[in-house]
Amino acid sequence: MSTVTYQSSWMNDDLRIFRKSVRQFIPREFAPHHERWCQQHRPDAEAWTAAGRVGMLLTDVPEEYGGAGGTFAHEAVVIEELAQAGINFGSGVHSIVAHYILAYGNQEQKRKWLPRMASGELVGAIAMTEPTAGSDLQGIKTSAHRDGDHFVVNGSKTFITNGCLAGLICLAVKTDPKAAGLKGISLIIIEAKNLPGYRVGRSLEKIGRHAQDTCEIFFDDVRVPAANLLGPAEGKGFSQMMEQLPYERLAIGVGAVATSEQAVAITTKYVKERMAFGKPLIDFQNTRFKLAECKTEARIGRVFLDDCIERYLAGQLDGVTAAMAKYWLTDCECRIVDECVQLHGGYGYMTEYPIARMWADSRVERIYAGTNEIMKEVIGWSL
Ligand SMILES: Cc1cc2nc3c(=O)[nH]c(=O)nc-3n(C[C@H](O)[C@H](O)[C@H](O)COP(=O)(O)OP(=O)(O)OC[C@H]3O[C@@H](n4cnc5c(N)ncnc54)[C@H](O)[C@@H]3O)c2cc1C
Repeated sequence: MSTVTYQSSWMNDDLRIFRKSVRQFIPREFAPHHERWCQQHRPDAEAWTAAGRVGMLLTDVPEEYGGAGGTFAHEAVVIEELAQAGINFGSGVHSIVAHYILAYGNQEQKRKWLPRMASGELVGAIAMTEPTAGSDLQGIKTSAHRDGDHFVVNGSKTFITNGCLAGLICLAVKTDPKAAGLKGISLIIIEAKNLPGYRVGRSLEKIGRHAQDTCEIFFDDVRVPAANLLGPAEGKGFSQMMEQLPYERLAIGVGAVATSEQAVAITTKYVKERMAFGKPLIDFQNTRFKLAECKTEARIGRVFLDDCIERYLAGQLDGVTAAMAKYWLTDCECRIVDECVQLHGGYGYMTEYPIARMWADSRVERIYAGTNEIMKEVIGWSL
């Protein structure tokens, strides 16, 4: 029985051409190095400049700031292609940092940093989480106090994606330790290279995403120009984060759906080839039913995601809907990938099989960018 191929409503010829170039680039420039990146716990710095040359970075940043002048749909294409290839590169976080600068930076800041981010010369990281403050950002202790025309920054951050290679860090700090709750938080841009008092800690050993650069970072009396504050005044950091988190959460939803679809595709192929009791696994009703469930859930996810993408493109994606997307699509991804591991039997547990890596790589999606429990709190506030 044939099925009509589903097409995302936001897809068009320009995006198809772009997808083709990304799809050619990844196996040629990234895939041959991915195993080594996993061992060294980070991509090569040259991978960033290669991605910049092919136009894969800052695809949705205006050309006047060095970006490709596209839309979030271009970002979605990059995220999907990386997810389908199983490559963990930190370009999602890099884009998020660019969007903070785009939204709250002044002209000078945008012109100074964005073109170098688009070329891959500057790698971006965002640093909110601390050893004792993750979900509860009120608890952050990293401080920045004014000393003339500088801030003096002290503290540490953990689990920072792109931390080791980062040349530009969007850092959440307390600029007013006396302000109640989240009011004293500001965002400051740190130009990290050769900065006295700044130190990158160890690469963290993770259960998946081994090629992704995840580190601790430390600040010991680091002097940062006051001009690096993002926004017109101190104390705006929390509201800036709340405004930008839908972008990050939608991007995670894009990766989750692409991974779910890829898991169904590779598992369908596997169960047609693998024999048991004298017949291919697909001939067992349980196999077909499980894959039917997975394929249906992936499609439901895709339709919801496409609606969120359309809303974002129209400037209408609200924080609650973005939280729904992040929570539901990543939960769905983990359910699907786990079922697909089961259908691979013992081979599903072997890291040389893509499904095993997908399983380990997917798990964090329910944890970072706000845990799925926090997403339910955000949705709950709207009830
Ligand atoms: C691989 C990886 C990459 C990351 N990259 C970055 C990065 O680039 N930048 C960055 O700043 N951070 C990053 N993080 C950190 C990530 O965002 C945090 O781990 C996450 O926000 C959770 O914080 P926590 O780890 O302190 O957990 P906790 O806040 O201690 O939460 C522990 C558990 O308690 C639950 N919980 C907490 N509060 C509530 C509540 N109110 N109601 C119900 N349940 C609750 C949580 O949902 C969770 O299940 C990364 C994390 C990982 C693992």
